[in-house]
Amino acid sequence: MSTSDVSVMASAIAASDDRSVRFHFENTYARLPERFYARLNPRQVTAPRLVKVNVELAQSLGLAPDELASTRGVEILAGNRVAEGAEPLAIAYAGHQFGHFVPQLGDGRANLLGEVVGRDGVRYDIQLKGSGPTPFSRRGDGRAALGPVLREYIVSEAMGALGVPTTRALAAVTTGELVFRETALPGAILTRVAASHLRVGTFQYFAAKGDTEGTRMLADYAIARHYPAVAHEKRLYRVFLDNVIARHAHLVAQWMLLGFIHGVMNTDNTSISGETLDYGPCAFMEAYDPAKVFSSIDSQGRYAYSNQPHAARWNLMRLAEALLPLLLQEEGSEEAALASANEAIAAFEPQFEAARLVGLRRKLGLFTDQEGDATLAQDLLDRMAANQADFTLTFRRLCTAATGREGGAEMRTLFAEPGAYDTWAVAWRRRLEQEPVPAQDRAAAMRLVNPAFIPRNHMVEAALEAAVEQEDFQPFEELLEVVSRPYEDRPDMERYTVPARPEECVSQTFCGT
Ligand code: AMP
Ligand code: MG
Repeated sequence: MSTSDVSVMASAIAASDDRSVRFHFENTYARLPERFYARLNPRQVTAPRLVKVNVELAQSLGLAPDELASTRGVEILAGNRVAEGAEPLAIAYAGHQFGHFVPQLGDGRANLLGEVVGRDGVRYDIQLKGSGPTPFSRRGDGRAALGPVLREYIVSEAMGALGVPTTRALAAVTTGELVFRETALPGAILTRVAASHLRVGTFQYFAAKGDTEGTRMLADYAIARHYPAVAHEKRLYRVFLDNVIARHAHLVAQWMLLGFIHGVMNTDNTSISGETLDYGPCAFMEAYDPAKVFSSIDSQGRYAYSNQPHAARWNLMRLAEALLPLLLQEEGSEEAALASANEAIAAFEPQFEAARLVGLRRKLGLFTDQEGDATLAQDLLDRMAANQADFTLTFRRLCTAATGREGGAEMRTLFAEPGAYDTWAVAWRRRLEQEPVPAQDRAAAMRLVNPAFIPRNHMVEAALEAAVEQEDFQPFEELLEVVSRPYEDRPDMERYTVPARPEECVSQTFCGT
């Protein structure tokens, strides 16, 4: 366990002090008109206990981890106390859920406390998730269960460490209350940090009401916060749309290159900043299978691994639609506005494919571009699929195999029919011979893009189960520590690289909402 971690159990909290907790909130979203949100404080809970403070993230935000872990800090993280300068609110948004439009969703179990500007100069939302009912709760209880909170903590931190744009986890607390799902479960609250919580669904909320002024204010806000470089463009909203599309093309390419399956790519979970948002039934694949689906609620495979680029494009089309009134003013006619929107959307696929190919080349240790590279990569993926090869291990072992002619033995065991790898490797080695880079440098570069450690599902489930069933947070701590350094070789942590045995396999994941 890293010594910088602050993991304080209830007994330790009792000994803490009564200092203030300084966030230095600066709240720009709360300055937008009242129809953008509902102001309300988080609902009190019975007995908050700290599970975890993310020390490194806290420091990068200019926050003091020991203040967050103090009695007062934990009260704030549990929603029992409103931090100085916070202006808690639940954001209004709409969204397409599995293709069906819901005109009002909104933060049904979250409070935005406010924004802090990090050491990097970027403004971040600080949000409590699981903080009680809001005007947007519909039939939900406004709460979150400990398991899903820890899952989001682990997987979002893993994604961050892997280099994927993502929301982060600043802290987790338990509430001392039960939440009722299929069974009674311990309640918990996640403190989430995001570049913002603007979603495609936030735009849809105003567009569906015919509130063009609201749409414009939201777009101007999003541009100022996430795309300031485009602010002086003449066709401002079109260029904004282009930029959101470009970020998502790169984001989804990164997911694909890591075997990540988001699971609920609804438009309300599609961020405007281009971050991975909302970790519900998400999972990393083990055996490579393009049709893989984990989510128990995705019976049609709408958000299957290989459908993710299509789903993202579909979501971005919904954003383009919501922006049509603004494009109309820019373009002068309905036809021109539609053409502009379609032109923007048409860029998604080539940008995604280009980003994916760049990533695949890196994964294979190719520094130069050659005609046949895409085919070579696809051939490997096809053979992995046909032979149930573990996605992460295959690429990691390729790093060693790339150092020379040896090192193929470990690779071959990953393929049901080892010859499938051998014949591919002949073509790969022929291609590597045309590379100018020395083999050792190549392997080192490959190790920076092909992780050793991902949060494997059965390990995530085991960590969650220990925490929920036995209040044992040690497996959570250890897994978190391992996935926070995903590109290092760590012989002592070897067991975390091993795929699930058939009896350990987790074939379904649940939203847990
Ligand atoms: P999600 O599936 O987490 O992306 O949530 C979709 C919508 O359902 C959002 O509007 C959430 O705020 C809302 N929601 C999810 N879980 C709950 C809950 N337990 N109580 C109230 N609202 C919820
Ligand atoms: Mg959501």
